[in-house]
Amino acid sequence: MGFAMAIDGPAGAGKSTIARLAGSKLGLIYIDTGAMFRAVAYYFHNNNIDVTSKEAVKSACDNINIDVTYSDGVQQIILNDENITAFLRKEEVGKMASKVAVLADVRTKLLNIQRALASSKRIVMDGRDIGTCVLPDADVKIYLTASSRVRAKRRFDELTSKGEKCDIDAIEKDIIDRDYQDMHREIAPLCQAEDAIYLDTSDMTIDEVVEKLVAICREKDHE
Ligand code: C5P
Repeated sequence: MGFAMAIDGPAGAGKSTIARLAGSKLGLIYIDTGAMFRAVAYYFHNNNIDVTSKEAVKSACDNINIDVTYSDGVQQIILNDENITAFLRKEEVGKMASKVAVLADVRTKLLNIQRALASSKRIVMDGRDIGTCVLPDADVKIYLTASSRVRAKRRFDELTSKGEKCDIDAIEKDIIDRDYQDMHREIAPLCQAEDAIYLDTSDMTIDEVVEKLVAICREKDHE
């Protein structure tokens, strides 16, 4: 029998880390939908697609083929037969993703892929519109958030630990701008589903959040 947990929330809330860890404890396949929008942004950028031209966007969407596979349990994005997973996590790509995510043709294309991936499997899917739009009947819906400062600090720590130089104020500004764009777009904006559990993780550790989600899912799964 299928089981779906939907996790939505703003940028840098820790959705993917939490979804991956909780998913592996619960035996759920993790589906990262942000990576799909990032893949489309990567294609649009590399092919100089004019996002203001409806025809150009439509024909680009027709030419994009996205396959989602798994290597050692880690999601891989195959764009037109090329594995582009390694290029997708950069902050720049996230910003570009938020710009293509407003386009109706892009959302329709990815919605179909996302629903097909989720059907009849046991999954945890994260994104911005999973509980509200992609999987309105998900068994468990979580709205995961934290203050913009905490989210910026986590990102700052992650980047500096990799030896990258960065500025916490600039990171926070980017996060706030991206959230604004995601919350105010016309189609499938980021918002908490009515039946989602709101979880502010500003003062929680990763383990605490994971344990909480695991407990919620186990209870629901046994109903
Ligand atoms: O979660 P991630 O940072 O990878 O998402 C990148 C961007 O993709 C988001 O800022 C958002 O604009 C878009 N997105 C979306 N709907 C989703 C997942 C991501 O619009 N379900």
